[in-house]
Amino acid sequence: MTNAFTTLSSEEAGRLLQEQLKRWPLAEANYRALRSVETRSYDLGGFTIRTQYNPARIVSSGAKTDAKSIGKRPCFLCPHHLPKEQIKLSFKLQEEYLLLCNPYPIFTEHFTIPTVAHQPQEISSRLDDFLQISRRLDQYTLFYNGPKSGASAPDHAHFQAVSSYEMPLDEETEVAHASRENKLIETEEGSFSLLTHYARNGFVIRAKSLEQAKAFFRLLCDAINKGKEPDMNLFCRYRNEMWQIALILRKAHRPWQYAAQGEEQILTSPGAADMGGLFITPRREDFDKISVPVLRDIYGQVCCDDEQMEEFRDKIMANWHNIKNKP
Ligand SMILES: [Zn+2]
Repeated sequence: MTNAFTTLSSEEAGRLLQEQLKRWPLAEANYRALRSVETRSYDLGGFTIRTQYNPARIVSSGAKTDAKSIGKRPCFLCPHHLPKEQIKLSFKLQEEYLLLCNPYPIFTEHFTIPTVAHQPQEISSRLDDFLQISRRLDQYTLFYNGPKSGASAPDHAHFQAVSSYEMPLDEETEVAHASRENKLIETEEGSFSLLTHYARNGFVIRAKSLEQAKAFFRLLCDAINKGKEPDMNLFCRYRNEMWQIALILRKAHRPWQYAAQGEEQILTSPGAADMGGLFITPRREDFDKISVPVLRDIYGQVCCDDEQMEEFRDKIMANWHNIKNKP
């Protein structure tokens, strides 16, 4: 087991990947295959969903994530179960983490960042670390899949860092005044916006300070889920000394098509990549079946609609005014 300590930077992550590709034939083959992977783009009216036919991802899309199946399998993120070829760079913030190359990539550069300890996927207690990691890996997009929102290891806490701009969401949420974004709150330290008419709706937080980012996140959890993290996929980039966070709310993990038989089946387990607009299909027949109506149907089943978002907006604004009016 290689266990080099790292200070964690984008440069270091890039070097890790290059080193890993030299030493690990499985990873090298999968990253090479990704270069010629088939993609298609669909215009959903002002924004794009890109589909990717990626057979190597069957390991993730087909993963059983119910408690019983999880209990029976060895945890693939625990350090002692990692493949012997895997280089493990460890670093410490509030908790200790490993920086690992994902050997089944969806992105040109794709890292998994698990905690060293085996503990449930949850972000509220480690949001600070999430934001710090994002600042250090400022050439990448960092994301988090909620335990019921696409994480293939809901029993072991982890983030992922990936090449920016390969998910349409990165570019589509870049401009603060994008028409699908409705700014609700603006402070000296940042802003909080509603993201709607986007097939997968949510919120965008921009913050110059950790405190402001965390305060907006708390406001959201308090207003819509009694203080607990909602089912969601979370994306973060640190650019120009500012955190930019997109939070996509989820109401289901998989659409009905996942469990359907025969012609109707579509093997998809939407996680952050899919919410980011990079829709992964590990089977050829599913890749060929996708169309704009199918995409709208699937996102509609697993995400919150515009009406639900308006309810959440009202609750958030009511809480915000309460906080502001406190003496
Ligand atoms: Zn584990």
